[in-house]
Amino acid sequence: MKKIYLDYAATTPTDPEVVKAMLPYFTDRFGNPSSIHSFGQEGKAAIEEARGKIASFLGAKQEEIIFTGCGTESDNFAIKGTAYANQNKGNHIITSSIEHPAVIKSCKFLEKMGFKITYLPVNKDGLIDPDDVKKAITDKTILISIMHANNEIGTIQPIAEIGKIAKEKEISFHSDAVQTFGHLPINVDELNVDLFSMSGHKLCGPNGIGALYIGKGTRIVPFMHGGEQEKRRRASTENVPAIVGFGKAVEIARETMNEEAKKLTVLRDKLIKGIFEKIEHVRLNGHPTKRLPNNVNVSIEFIEGESMLLNLDMEGIAVSTGSACSSSSLEASHVLLALGLSHELAHGSLRFTMGRFTEKKDIDDVLEVLPKIVKKLRSMSPLWKN
Ligand SMILES: *Cc1c(COP(=O)(O)O)cnc(C)c1O
Repeated sequence: MKKIYLDYAATTPTDPEVVKAMLPYFTDRFGNPSSIHSFGQEGKAAIEEARGKIASFLGAKQEEIIFTGCGTESDNFAIKGTAYANQNKGNHIITSSIEHPAVIKSCKFLEKMGFKITYLPVNKDGLIDPDDVKKAITDKTILISIMHANNEIGTIQPIAEIGKIAKEKEISFHSDAVQTFGHLPINVDELNVDLFSMSGHKLCGPNGIGALYIGKGTRIVPFMHGGEQEKRRRASTENVPAIVGFGKAVEIARETMNEEAKKLTVLRDKLIKGIFEKIEHVRLNGHPTKRLPNNVNVSIEFIEGESMLLNLDMEGIAVSTGSACSSSSLEASHVLLALGLSHELAHGSLRFTMGRFTEKKDIDDVLEVLPKIVKKLRSMSPLWKN
């Protein structure tokens, strides 16, 4: 059976070119970049080359990029590091109700430490109103953290506009860009961000490597204490193979991103149209146009997302759901609930995320298989009255 992977928002396959670039750094070029000898200097040079690729993608300076262990660490570092660096200024942080757990739980942690957090609502399409950000600011506000694009529903936020507000008030502005970095053109100056989180494995790079852009002059305290690496901002011996792979992934993304986005937009819209044509009682979650080119999130009424997911998996199709039972938690997706969806609709959600290796045939196959599964499950559902 041919397997179809439509869960690129969870993780992506590592591009074979990336793997090729990484391999020598496990074996021949294994030196510790802090070492003075040639082995070490070779590793150091490779790190700086990768840093340069990321900086130039973002329109940033090389010294504004710090490598971290993952996107989660970048979010934790940005939020806690800013909070602790600005304690003398204030204790108020503004974020949204649809952030990734790496942001929400960092904020919850700080709440326990005495910080005050405002979780802004979103409209039915998942958009944050910049006016709400403005109104939430107090003279104690030290950080605003709003994600660039949401990982579940794909909605892209008005980051430049929010950043402008933050800048006028001289408040640090962080954005979790894990879903957009390497997928959309980005310029940190145009977006008015001070802190910007990225991760390797969401753009066909390796797992376990992230980066944080820290704009010049941004106050932040280190998260990891130890050696002198990363200008003393992130101690620990660098993961050179992963950093090299991350750099290669960015280099490839830079060349292929625009064509890829065009291809994915066509596939996305084809999948949405097909689902609406072939299945009744469906809702599209997320903004119809201000959304990632690779994201389709729908709620299919009267059945459970988890049942659909398992049935699709038996046909070799991998997707994701905001339904509780698929994860170990009992709650429905906080993102879908924040849109105003009922628990039933949130539990009936399916997320399809496509990427570099997705083909038109994959979408045709999904549109062949999914309606049959829905029909079967609805015929067994006590909620379905036809
Ligand atoms: C995947 C993801 C993260 C976490 O990144 P890791 O590298 O897996 O830790 C954070 N934020 C968003 C929006 C994500 O999609």
